[in-house]
Amino acid sequence: MRKKIIIAVDGYSSCGKSTLAKDLAKELNYIYIDSGAMYRAVTLYFMDENIEIKDTNAINAALEKIQIRFRLNEILSRNETYLNDRNVEELIRSPQVSSRVSEVSAIKEVRQFLVKQQKEMGKERGIVMDGRDIGTVVFKDAELKLFITADVEVRAKRRHLEMMEKGISITIDEVKQNLDHRDHIDTHRAESPLYKANDAILIDNTILTRPQQLKLISNLAKKMIEEISENEANSQTE
Ligand code: C5P
Repeated sequence: MRKKIIIAVDGYSSCGKSTLAKDLAKELNYIYIDSGAMYRAVTLYFMDENIEIKDTNAINAALEKIQIRFRLNEILSRNETYLNDRNVEELIRSPQVSSRVSEVSAIKEVRQFLVKQQKEMGKERGIVMDGRDIGTVVFKDAELKLFITADVEVRAKRRHLEMMEKGISITIDEVKQNLDHRDHIDTHRAESPLYKANDAILIDNTILTRPQQLKLISNLAKKMIEEISENEANSQTE
């Protein structure tokens, strides 16, 4: 029997973590979870309800009312984010949410609320999750940890193109500013800052294409699954 493992994908904003994690999950027939979507959904709720990010009582009361789910959109064959049964997949990617999400993600109560749910999602293993603290906090015991990075100019260009294709009007400079802003807060916050776990593999994909990157990592993952399954089978026959 093939063992199922946990794959943690962390790294800076817009360096293709979700694309890689999604492709990898598809190839391995694993569940894919976009933890950033969960932080974005909480941010959207706080914005809609005018929750003051320094008001701990209001935050705790708001978190009690938030339910986040992922549901498959069969036509687009992708998982979409639902906030209290409302499809918010597009809304949570807006520049407005992007500009506020890192402040909300730095709040201890928000992190505790979401990390608990993320851990639950990985109970059965067979999961690829991407984010900022997956290999360092959520799944410290992940069998495969990746830390993705890329040149910031290249990241800004890629994200800008993606947004233009969606019809969002924004300049490259604005995109770059947002990436710098989020990376700064994400790496400097007190609660679970972004950093590379000691046992994570560093991948710089500045000059890698999407298929090249997928091939590299999926070979690595398959080899690891093979080895773990073999070791387990051997230890059972001993
Ligand atoms: O992955 P994405 O860029 O959509 O994440 C949006 C924001 O959510 C990040 O900039 C970060 O502030 C926050 N985040 C986090 N921890 C995670 C995932 C995302 O703090 N595990």
